[in-house]
Amino acid sequence: MTSKSDREDIGARLSFDRSVSGRRAVDTPEWDGPRAEPLPEGLTRGGLRLPELSQGQLVRYYTALSHLNFGVDSGTYPLGSCTMKYNPKVNDEVAGLPGFAGVHPLAPEVEVQGTLEVLFELQEMLGAITGLPAVSLAPAAGAQGELAGMLMVKKVLQERGEGERRRVIVPDSAHGTNPASAAMVGFTVTEIPSGPGGSMDPAALERELDDTVAALMVTLPNTLGLWERDIERVVRLVHDNGSYVYGDGANLNPLLGRIRFGDLGFDVVHLNLHKTFSTPHGGGGPGAGPVCATPELAAYLPAPVIVPAAVDDEVRFRLARPTSSIGRLQQFHGNIGVLLRAYAYIRTLGLDGLRATSGAAVLNANYLRSLLEEHYALPYPGTVMHEAVFSGARQRRKHGVRTYDIAKRLIDYGFHPPTVYFPLIVEEALMIEPTETEAREDIEAFAATMAAIAEEAAQDPDVLHNAPHTAPISRLDEATAARRPELRWWPGEQAREE
Ligand SMILES: *Cc1c(COP(=O)(O)O)cnc(C)c1O
Repeated sequence: MTSKSDREDIGARLSFDRSVSGRRAVDTPEWDGPRAEPLPEGLTRGGLRLPELSQGQLVRYYTALSHLNFGVDSGTYPLGSCTMKYNPKVNDEVAGLPGFAGVHPLAPEVEVQGTLEVLFELQEMLGAITGLPAVSLAPAAGAQGELAGMLMVKKVLQERGEGERRRVIVPDSAHGTNPASAAMVGFTVTEIPSGPGGSMDPAALERELDDTVAALMVTLPNTLGLWERDIERVVRLVHDNGSYVYGDGANLNPLLGRIRFGDLGFDVVHLNLHKTFSTPHGGGGPGAGPVCATPELAAYLPAPVIVPAAVDDEVRFRLARPTSSIGRLQQFHGNIGVLLRAYAYIRTLGLDGLRATSGAAVLNANYLRSLLEEHYALPYPGTVMHEAVFSGARQRRKHGVRTYDIAKRLIDYGFHPPTVYFPLIVEEALMIEPTETEAREDIEAFAATMAAIAEEAAQDPDVLHNAPHTAPISRLDEATAARRPELRWWPGEQAREE
C-alpha cells in the first residue's frame, strides 16, 4: 500500500482531499427576492460532500492535472487505427458558435433551420465522399455506426423473407467492435483467416458462403494498414451469394478523395468523423459514426435523417424517420459538435484538400515504415496505407523485452505509445499511425527514438523492463487493479482498511 506522502508526490491528492470547510471559489450575493416554498422533507439530499476550495486552489489543481495529460496538442500520438491527428482550431470555433452551441435538441424545426441545413449538407458531402448517397448522422460512435449497419442488414433481410440468414463473416484482422456489433444484433460470427499477405483470402471466404450468410464485415484499409487486394472479387462473391457487404470505414483518411466505397460495391459503411474529420478525441468521446448506404438501404437508416421539406417558406429542412427505419439510437439527434467540426473541415479543405490529406497520410506512414524496417520486424512487408504494424517479436526472442516495455519506454522520451497487441494476428504487435499531420522532422524524431529503444533493448533490457522512469506513475500493479479495483474516493476517516 502506498503511503500518503507518495500519493501527494504523484499529484494524486484529489480535490476532495484538499477540501477545507467553508472555502469557496466564487461568492454569489445572497438572494433577497421572494423565497420559494422549501422542497418537501425527504426529497432533498443532504450530506453531499463536494470539495471546498478557493478559486486559486481550484485553478492550480486543474492546471496541474492538465499537465499530466498527453494529447495531440502535446506531441506525436501515433496510436494505430485511432488517427490521433492535429485538428485545426478553427473547427472548434465553428462548433462553438452560439447559434449552434446554444441550440436545444427539442427546439422546434422552424427555429433551427440553419443547423439543419448544415447537417443536410454534411449528409450530402459524406454521401459524395463515400459514393453511398443515403446517410444518417445519428450514430454517436464508430461502434454505434456498426450496430446501426448490422441492424439495417438484419431488417432488410427480414423484409426480404430471408431471416434465416443469421451469419456474419469477419476476417481475423478485424477491430474487436466488428464481431461485437454483429453479435449484439443476434448474428453468429464466423471468423475467417487472412491470407499470407495480410489481405482477405477469397478461397477462405468462398468456403463459408452459403444461404445462411447475412453479410461480410470488412475494414478498408484493413487493420494491418493494407489495401484489401481482392476487394472487388470479394464484393462480387458476397453479392452473388445474396449477402451484404458492410464496410468499416473508420480508417478513411488514406482513401479521401481517391476511392469510394460505393464504387467498390459496398452496401453500407460507417465513418469515424472523430478520426478522419477533425474532432479531438480520446478518453472515450465524443464521437460520431455516420452510416452511409446505397439507395436500396436508405429506408432502413437510423432516425433522424435530415430531408428537404416540401416547398414552404419557413421550414426548408426537417428531421425525418425513414419508412423502414431501424429506429433511434439515442434520445436526440447525434453529437452535433462533432458533426459541425466535420462540416467545417470538409468545407475548408475541399476535394483537393481531402486528396492532399490522403496523400500525406499514405506518404507519412510509408516514410515511417521505411525508417523503422531495419529495427523492428514487419510481418506483412510492402507498401502500406495509413499505418504500419510492426512486431516486437525479435526483441522478445533475443533480449526478453516485450512490446509492452517498448511502449512504456516511449513515454520517457515524450511520445505517446502506439497501439499495442492489436491486431491479434501479429505477435507482439506495434501498430503505428503517424497520421497526415505529423511533420517530416517529427516522424524522423519518432523513428530515431524507436531505433534508440531497439538499441537499448539489446544493451540494457532492464531500462525497458522498468520504464517509464520519468512519468509521475510508473508501472501499475495491473493484476491488483483488475482484481481489486478501487473505483471510488474514500474520505480520510473512512479510508478502506485492507
Ligand atoms: C476506432 C475504430 C472502431 C470503433 O470506433 P469507436 O468510435 O471507437 O466506437 C471500429 N473500427 C476500426 C477499424 C477503428 O479503428
